[in-house]
Amino acid sequence: MTEASHIPQQLTACPDCDLLLQTTQDHHRMEGRCPRCKAVLWHSAKHTDTISFAAAISGLILFYPAITLPILKFSMVGQNGSNSLIGGIYRMWIEQEKMLAILILLCSLIAPLMHLLLTAVVCLSIRLNHFPPHFPQWLKYKCWMQSWSMLEVYAMGIIVAYVKMMHDGDVSVSGGTYCLCALLLCVILSSQYFYEEQAWQHWEQNKPA
Ligand SMILES: [Zn+2]
Repeated sequence: MTEASHIPQQLTACPDCDLLLQTTQDHHRMEGRCPRCKAVLWHSAKHTDTISFAAAISGLILFYPAITLPILKFSMVGQNGSNSLIGGIYRMWIEQEKMLAILILLCSLIAPLMHLLLTAVVCLSIRLNHFPPHFPQWLKYKCWMQSWSMLEVYAMGIIVAYVKMMHDGDVSVSGGTYCLCALLLCVILSSQYFYEEQAWQHWEQNKPA
């Protein structure tokens, strides 16, 4: 049995310019780049699956405090207030901004959570060398959820809100912001170090007969 490799087998399409390339396992270089547009086709860095798995588990641990702890605390004309991610979604819902609430719920909460969960499950299957029949679906849903996960847009919104409000009152970042930043880092690391091609190779070599 051949080991799963970072290098795509036989044929691969460049993700940026769609150039079809022939690859072989003799291409033992640190990095493979498209000859036409120089896009990175593969890295041969080791332990990437461990980094992706650790980032996904850390992200899952951080998820609950990131969505429930207050993000910004503000004091304005004698009034104090704070709000969390989940509290903001609830507030939008009761103020009849239901479409916006659903969109934020999907892109800032459900999609990142499912993305981390499926990354952890796929990485765990690979680590345990146990591939249930649902493995391909998990891998496909993981990639689908990754494209819907837009936690960074929410983080950008926090920065804009902070800058806008800092002149009108006393605004300070709270525990939720730190958890959210750490969660965002975990989401980025778990995506950056996850090699879909390698996961498919593992499945191809170990799928149940
Ligand atoms: Zn290319």
